Amino acid sequence: MPRMSKGLPIKQKIPGVAKIILVSSAKGGVGKSTVSVNLALALQKLGKTTGLLDADIFGPSVPRLLNLSGEPRISDDGKLLPLSNYGIQSMSMGYLVAPENAVVWRGLMVMKALQQLLFEVKWENLDYLVIDMPPGTGDTQLTISQQLKVDGAVIVSTPQDIALIDAVKGIAMFKKVKIPLLGLVQNMSYFVCPNCSHESHIFGSDGARREAAAHNLDVLGSIPLNEEICVQSDKGRPVVIASSEAIAKPYLDIAEKVI
Ligand code: ADP
Repeated sequence: MPRMSKGLPIKQKIPGVAKIILVSSAKGGVGKSTVSVNLALALQKLGKTTGLLDADIFGPSVPRLLNLSGEPRISDDGKLLPLSNYGIQSMSMGYLVAPENAVVWRGLMVMKALQQLLFEVKWENLDYLVIDMPPGTGDTQLTISQQLKVDGAVIVSTPQDIALIDAVKGIAMFKKVKIPLLGLVQNMSYFVCPNCSHESHIFGSDGARREAAAHNLDVLGSIPLNEEICVQSDKGRPVVIASSEAIAKPYLDIAEKVI
C-alpha cells in the first residue's frame, strides 16, 4: 500500500531507477506504445541504461514490441526480475497473466497488480525508466502520477486527436499532480509517398503546434505515418534498432530533447 501524508499518497522513487519518464496519450491507437519502446531504445543508444515498464494492465503491448515472452524469474529477495531484449530491461503484465484473464479484473485487483509493477521489480541501475501508460486519464494514470516521483511526461497524439479536447485532459491531469510536461509528440503527422516523395498532411498540419502553444508545451517531434514503423513493430523489431537512420531519427531527436 502507498505511504500517505495528510490523506494523499507520498510520492516515491522506484528502487534502482534514477529518472522516470511517463509516455501518455488521451486515446488508444495513436502510437503511444510504439513511441515508448522506440524512445527507450533511443535513450539506450544515447548511452543511458534504460528500462521500459508497460503499465497497461488490460492491453499490454511491450512483450510483442520487444519480442519477449515468458514468466519473469523471482529474485532472492522476492522481486520480479525484468526481461531484457535489445539491451533494455522491461516488465509488463503481459509476462504475468494472459490478457484474456486480466480483462475480468475489478478495481482492487488492478490496483494490486499495478503496485507490484511499480514497486516490486528489481531494476538494475537504470538511468531512465520509460513508463508506457494506459490511454486516458483514469484511476491507473492518477495512481501512477500521485505515487511516483516522476521527472517528466511526454504526451503522444495524432494531429487529428490533438484537435479534440481529449489530449487537453491529460495535460490538465499532469499539471494538477505537478508532473513536469516535457512536451508533445505528434505521431502519424504526415505521409511521404514512397513513389514520388510528395509529403501529405493527411490529418491536417498545424493542429498539434497550435494546441501545444496554447498550453505552453514544446513539440518534441513529429513522426511520419510510415508502413515500415508498423511492419517492424509487428515483428517485434522496433525501428530504432531495425531500420534506417532516417526512420529512426525522429525518435532519437525526441530522446535528445528528453535527456
Ligand atoms: P497505442 O499505444 O497508442 O495504442 P500503438 O503504439 O500500439 O498505439 O500503435 C497502434 C498501431 O499503429 C500499431 O499497429 C503501430 O505499429 C502503428 N503505428 C504507430 N505509429 C506509427 C507510425 N508513425 N506509422 C505507421 N504506423 C504506426
